[in-house]
Amino acid sequence: MPAIRSVECDLFRIPLAEVLSDAKHGDHTHFQLVTVRIALDDGTEGTGYTYTGGYGGDAIKAMVDTDLRPWLLGRDGGDIDAVHDGMQWLVHYVGRGGIASFAISAVDIALWDARGKREGRALWQMAGGDTDRCRAYCGGIDLNFPLPKLLDSIRGYLDRGADAVKIKIGQPELATDIERIAAVRELLGPDRHFMVDANYGMSVAQAIEASKAFARFNLTWFEEPIIPDDYDGYARITDETGMPVAQGENLHTIHEFEQAVARSKLAFLQPDGSNCGGITGWLRAAKLGADAGITVCSHGMQELHVSLVSGFPGDGWIEVHSFPIDQYTTRPLRLQDHRAVAPSEPGTGVVFDWDRLRAAHDPAR
Ligand SMILES: [Mg+2]
Repeated sequence: MPAIRSVECDLFRIPLAEVLSDAKHGDHTHFQLVTVRIALDDGTEGTGYTYTGGYGGDAIKAMVDTDLRPWLLGRDGGDIDAVHDGMQWLVHYVGRGGIASFAISAVDIALWDARGKREGRALWQMAGGDTDRCRAYCGGIDLNFPLPKLLDSIRGYLDRGADAVKIKIGQPELATDIERIAAVRELLGPDRHFMVDANYGMSVAQAIEASKAFARFNLTWFEEPIIPDDYDGYARITDETGMPVAQGENLHTIHEFEQAVARSKLAFLQPDGSNCGGITGWLRAAKLGADAGITVCSHGMQELHVSLVSGFPGDGWIEVHSFPIDQYTTRPLRLQDHRAVAPSEPGTGVVFDWDRLRAAHDPAR
């Protein structure tokens, strides 16, 4: 058994190139990256991480340092399922979901990285081995962009090799959303995949009205139209409008995924391994979704999810997110023939450029 010998956690606060906005989180100026480096006594090492939209990183790091780390030291780091479940129960009472899910995710990913290195397997192979590439779309955080800038940004995605895009919606007037969607659809042409994301800024009634108005734009999905916990509300939107709905980035525990899969009539499930329990949590949520016939996608963290969505059976999408974590790694995301290509090296294939991270780190509040 490879026992866990050390657990080292760091927090970086990375400025974004420009202010990015959506319907509920407001303005983003930075993202936070919490890294966890684990060494095992068989000589293997692994790196895991999670991220935030700018808040909560200190609490995540504190939970890793003061609660998880002492519990982890000396445990069998090869039995990831047992370690994962043990961490969940350790902090369950204070941290069911929320901060705990982020902290557990970072540790879990580090253990998978070490496992891959130990077994000489890439993450896409460990995640099911279906294929090493998957569909990808660029997800803008662009609610605040005036229309000409929004269209420029879409052109930038297409120049970069993407052929599918998502924009934020949730303007004060529905007519403004419709105008922006119409302009983007015209730019994309009728056939490219196009998604919208309201970041749960609407009521069920508003989302139904919007879905009816959006019907003529051939959207691939409408993401988080309403609050994530209103599982039956999601089903109502689909029942009343036929709009394919998507969610998952705000579901943190497997029990939340169970509810969403059973009740929400989702067309797409979007677990994020950075906040649903790492690779173990992502794979468990993905299996729930796939067993129910839901297309399994991901949210954010493209440099890692490319391996999970590719390797897991099915034809899901990764989001190429506007938080460019991959730009701080030695292998930024690669697109080829509009598909994202997973790294082939053993482990997660996510190797941070620590000097670059330290140089970019902005400790100021
Ligand atoms: Mg979203």
